[in-house]
Amino acid sequence: MELIDGKELAKNIRANLKEDVEALKQKGIHPKLAVIMVGDDKASAVYVRNKSKACNEIGVEYEEFLLKEDTTMDELLKLIEKLNKDASVDGILLQSPIPRHLDINEAFRTITPEKDVDGFNPVNVGKLSLNQECFVSCTPYGIIKMLETYNIPIEGANAVIIGRSNIVGKPLLQCLLNKNATVTICHSKTKNLEEVTKRADILIAAIGKPEFVTEYMVKEGATVIDVGINRTEEGKILGDVKFDEVSKKASYITPVPGGVGPMTIAMLMANVVKAASNRK
Ligand code: NAD
Repeated sequence: MELIDGKELAKNIRANLKEDVEALKQKGIHPKLAVIMVGDDKASAVYVRNKSKACNEIGVEYEEFLLKEDTTMDELLKLIEKLNKDASVDGILLQSPIPRHLDINEAFRTITPEKDVDGFNPVNVGKLSLNQECFVSCTPYGIIKMLETYNIPIEGANAVIIGRSNIVGKPLLQCLLNKNATVTICHSKTKNLEEVTKRADILIAAIGKPEFVTEYMVKEGATVIDVGINRTEEGKILGDVKFDEVSKKASYITPVPGGVGPMTIAMLMANVVKAASNRK
């Protein structure tokens, strides 16, 4: 079994991006990310802090907009529109979740596709499904990067994703399909899940249930990618995969923490640098 070291890989990606940012600055372009957070979700605060740290490290300017829990849709859209027009801002990220009274889909639709570094605007989602140049959402992008770096064959592989969310499962399905994998997507209504997952050469768990994937669900020699971030009451972070068991069967596996998480942030940085490079 080989561990896929997302932390180390992300570090290398950030180091390369730092050089790209330097080169952009020589041309008078100072890449900038604007992050909007609504309310005070604790997990979001941690993610946002990690994003700001990554920006600092590679020299990307970072501005945070903290909106109150009772912010109206109108106020949120006005801020997005202001950032859309601001020529100094390359990327706009709306941290989810946002309070229930707000329409996140409308917010994502309002972020201009050129600054949509999370790849959630329907234009980027559509382009991804057509295999056209676009901003790819960061978690799937990071997963593909890990597979490619470790030379894990995607073309022709049986890839099985557990979870069909708009931010992980669905865009990952497109990414893997674009790389010629045979992709199956499973969800809470899937029957005989174990039978499906056991066929996977590449198994990706994006469920949000601690240690859901056990050894009985995994084929000998499979590559297992664990997207889950589940906080226990004791403050421990667990993935969606029962690591101790599954790592004995897998040929490659990502740890939690230190796998998909840091890669997601590194790819966000890559998208911000790409947006800045696209500046007219
Ligand atoms: P979500 O809640 O939106 O989706 C969960 C999916 O799991 C759903 O499609 C659901 O159908 C499926 N599911 C639930 N129970 C199931 C069952 N019993 N059998 C089969 N499928 C089942 O979650 P999400 O936003 O995609 O996130 C999933 C996990 O990944 C969470 O732990 C989240 O914190 C984590 N996450 C991590 C990163 C990262 O960068 N590492 C990024 C995004 C999400």
